[in-house]
Amino acid sequence: MKFNPQQYRIKDEPGVPFIDPVEIQEIIDGTESSVEKVSTVIARSFAKERLSMQDVAVLINARDSVSKQLIRDSAKELKKRIYGNRIVLFAPLYVGNLCSNNCSYCGFRASNTDAVRKTLTESELIENVKALEENGQKRLILVFGEHRNYSPEFIANAVKTVYGVKSGNGEIRRVNINAAPLDEEGFRVVKEAGIGTYQVFQETYNKSSYEKFHTAGKKADFNYRLVSLDRAMVAGIDDVGIGALFGLYDWRFEVLSLIRHVNHLEACFNIGPHTISFPRLQKALEVKMDTKYLVDDDDFQQLVAILRLAVPYTGMILTARESEKVRKEVLQYGCSQIDAGTKIEIGAYAGKFRENQELNREQFYINDNRSLGDVVRELIDDGYLPSFCTACYRKGRTGEHFMEFSVPGFIKRFCTANAILTLAEYICDYADEKTAEKGWKLVEKNLEELKDFRDTDELKSRIEKIKSGQRDLYY
Ligand code: SAM
Ligand code: SF4
Repeated sequence: MKFNPQQYRIKDEPGVPFIDPVEIQEIIDGTESSVEKVSTVIARSFAKERLSMQDVAVLINARDSVSKQLIRDSAKELKKRIYGNRIVLFAPLYVGNLCSNNCSYCGFRASNTDAVRKTLTESELIENVKALEENGQKRLILVFGEHRNYSPEFIANAVKTVYGVKSGNGEIRRVNINAAPLDEEGFRVVKEAGIGTYQVFQETYNKSSYEKFHTAGKKADFNYRLVSLDRAMVAGIDDVGIGALFGLYDWRFEVLSLIRHVNHLEACFNIGPHTISFPRLQKALEVKMDTKYLVDDDDFQQLVAILRLAVPYTGMILTARESEKVRKEVLQYGCSQIDAGTKIEIGAYAGKFRENQELNREQFYINDNRSLGDVVRELIDDGYLPSFCTACYRKGRTGEHFMEFSVPGFIKRFCTANAILTLAEYICDYADEKTAEKGWKLVEKNLEELKDFRDTDELKSRIEKIKSGQRDLYY
C-alpha cells in the first residue's frame, strides 16, 4: 500500500510549507458524509487502498450513530488484522524544563515564574534511568524544554549517557526524543548518538490559531516548526514522529492536516512518519484554558479510529495524559504504543525531589498514575500482549525499510515473536508472582497462535535461554 504522490498530484518539496488552511477547510466543508459513503471509504481502507483527503473528510464528517459505530468497529478490526494484540510500552523521561518559549497552554512556559526550573545533572539522569530500568523499562523518550542550554550536543550526550546505564539485567535499548526542532546539522548530531524517533508536534496546524498560542521565542515561527521533520529526514533521521495537541483548534482540521503531513513526508522522502501522537490538552499549572475547542471523549475516540483507518501502518501513541478508563477504550481503536509508570515531574523516577518538597516541575497534570507493573498486569488481563521490543531500529529496519516490512505477516512473524521474548524477559526479571503466572499463560497462547506464521520451536528454545539467564534475543 505504497503512497503514490502522482495519485493526488502532490508536488511537495522538502522544506517548503505544505499546509493550505483554505484547501483543508474546503475539503471539510465540501465533503458530504452518509452511512453508504462511510462504508465505501472503509472498504477501500480494508482493500489497502490509500485514502485521499476527501475520503478522510467523509469519515471526519460522519455524525450519525450508525456511521460512527461503523468507523470504530472497523478501526478495531483493522488494528487486530495488522497489529494483532501487541502493545509496545515506554516511559517519558523529562530531562529539563528550562524554556524560552511561551506556549500559553504549557506549565514550562517562560512567563510561568511559579515553575521550579530544573535540569537533571548527569548523576541525577543516571539515577533516574536506573530507577526506570529497575522497573523493567527498555524504551524511553527524553523530553526537553526549548532552551539554549539544550543544544544538540547536550541532547546527544544525554542519549549516550542513558544508553550507558545498566542495572542488573536492566538496560535502555531505544531512546527517542521529544525536543525543540533543530537545524539540519543539529539533527545530524543527535542522530549520531543513536536515537530512535525524533518527535516534533505541530500543536495546531492552523497558522492563525498557532500564532495566538505561541507569541514568543523560536516556537513562534509556524513554518520553521512545520517543516522541521523535513530537516530531520534530510539529516538521515528517518524515524520521525508527528502530532497535534488536540484542544487548540477544531479537531477535524487537525486530523486532516495530520494526514496532509503524512502525505507531505511520503511525497518528499518516500517515507511516512513512524508515529502519530494525539495528545489532548490537559490542565497545567497557572494555565487558564480556552474551552472552545476542547475535544470530548466521544470525539477523541472517533478521531483515533479515523487516524487508524487512514494510515494503517503508522504507529499511534496514546499517553498517560488520558485516564485509565479512556486509555482502555481508545486502545482498542488503533493505538500501538502507550507509556506506563509515567512520572513527568523532573527527577521523580528517582523519587528524591518530592521529599525535598520541591514541586511544580510538571508540564501538565497526567491522569493515569498506574505503575508499569499494574499496566502490564492489566494489559495481560485484557488479552493484550505487552511488548518492550526495540528490534527494528537496531536491525536497521527504519524509515522506508520499516514501511516495506510493515506488511501483514511481518508484524506477526517479527513483532509478535519479539514481543513474546521481551515479555519473557520482563516476567523473569521484574514481574510479581501473579503477573508471572498470567504472563506465561499468555506466552503459551500467543505461541500457539503464531504456529501458522513461523516455526515456533526456535522461538521456544529462545524462551528457554531467557529462563536460564540470556537476554536481548531478538529477530
Ligand atoms: N519543548 C518541546 C516542544 O515544545 O516541542 C518538546 C517538549 S514539550 C514538553 C512536548 C509536548 O507536550 C508539546 O509538543 C505539547 O504538545 C505537549 N503539551 C504541552 N502542554 C500541554 C498540556 N497542557 N497538555 C497536554 N500536552 C501538552
Ligand atoms: Fe516550552 Fe515545549 Fe512547553 Fe512550549 S510546549 S513552553 S516549547 S516546553
